[in-house]
Amino acid sequence: MTKKVLKFGGTSVGTIERIQHVARIVKKEYEAGNQIITVVSAMSGKTNELINLSREISKNFSKRELDVLLSSGEQVTSSLLAGALIEMNIKAKTFLNWQIPILTEGDHNNSRIINSSTEKINKFLDQGVVVIPGFQGISKNGDITTIGRGGSDATAVAMAKIFNADSCEIYTDVDGVFSTDPNKIPVAKKIDQISYDEMLELSSLGAKVMQPSAVQTAMMYDVPLEVKSTFTDRRGTKIFDKQNIDYTKSVTGVAYSKDDAKITLIGVEDKPGVAANIFEPLNKVQINVDMVIQSVAANNKTTDITFTIKRGDLLKTLEILNNNKKIKYKNIIHNDKVAKVSIVGAGMVSTPGVTYKMFQGLAEINVNILAISTSEIKLSVIIKEENILNAVKKLHTIFDLD
Ligand code: ADP
Ligand code: ASP
Ligand code: MG
Repeated sequence: MTKKVLKFGGTSVGTIERIQHVARIVKKEYEAGNQIITVVSAMSGKTNELINLSREISKNFSKRELDVLLSSGEQVTSSLLAGALIEMNIKAKTFLNWQIPILTEGDHNNSRIINSSTEKINKFLDQGVVVIPGFQGISKNGDITTIGRGGSDATAVAMAKIFNADSCEIYTDVDGVFSTDPNKIPVAKKIDQISYDEMLELSSLGAKVMQPSAVQTAMMYDVPLEVKSTFTDRRGTKIFDKQNIDYTKSVTGVAYSKDDAKITLIGVEDKPGVAANIFEPLNKVQINVDMVIQSVAANNKTTDITFTIKRGDLLKTLEILNNNKKIKYKNIIHNDKVAKVSIVGAGMVSTPGVTYKMFQGLAEINVNILAISTSEIKLSVIIKEENILNAVKKLHTIFDLD
């Protein structure tokens, strides 16, 4: 008997009619003889709505209470889906995370699933459809935790791994993974198959269709994924180990994000240990530094250091830099109207000239590059935010993705 994990995102369960539609998909899969574990997100917009409510109480709302609040969104859709299945004469049951339990570790609002008991679910799988609210778990203290935005994807992958499922299907509001966001760039093309590494780069660099940590877990434990539409019957995108993919193009996709900020320290002393002194206090409070550029010291004494961080960390970073007694610099400037555009492709490794082609393409549309970072299968640049969609379109065209 085939065991399947089916995950439905926020838009897929956004209304009662859509939940009933999802129930029909699940019913069909169940009646075809499969064992089914369903993972659901909250109705689209619900998690943001709950966050906004908490902010009306306090800008510093308790993180523990926020997890209690946010986890409710997925609990609503789980019970509605199980109820819709029961209404269709399918035996179904919601298992809340503390009932299973699904164990997490880490901070409130940003935990990770580390394990799950299997007993209760295995027992019920032979009798009916299991429904689990995504995005949450229970800490070792017994508190409810959530596992980061988009975290229902991670719940689905964790369940597929722990229950040794034959497939993990991520149902969403687009037909699969595209060469770039199809809702912003209509010429984007659906990708039939993609490697874990490329998907991990794309999602980490802004392609929201899969949550990065879910892809990372799938890659680590070799859980094959399929991203497909809740609303059409079209073939989706298969995500698996790269050995099986034949690369015909150097670039597989273009991703972008608009949540970056850039800081430059001008006139920093040029001596050993300075960079460590700048970044150590940021690391301590888990501010993630993305790109770093150090210019050549003009007079052998001072240099300029530019780096990028998440925009939400800007104020805190400036405060930390201002209070850092270990570093000396002449001036500090920042810019939060920047964005990052990236090309990703395993085929880049074997194609010379990709870097030049990207820079040339951006120059042709008069886009200035503010910072660059590369890895074996990706090339990212920071540019002005106002240029981002033009840059994505241009790169999509010149790398033959339209
Ligand atoms: P869900 O609620 O189902 O989890 P998400 O909103 O998290 O769905 O992710 C789906 C969205 O991701 C799409 O509606 C699309 O706008 C966006 N997206 C961004 N980049 C891509 C891409 N490369 N391929 C497909 N979708 C993408
Ligand atoms: N509801 C959560 C969010 O909006 C989790 C998810 O949808 O996957 O981030
Ligand atoms: Mg999502």
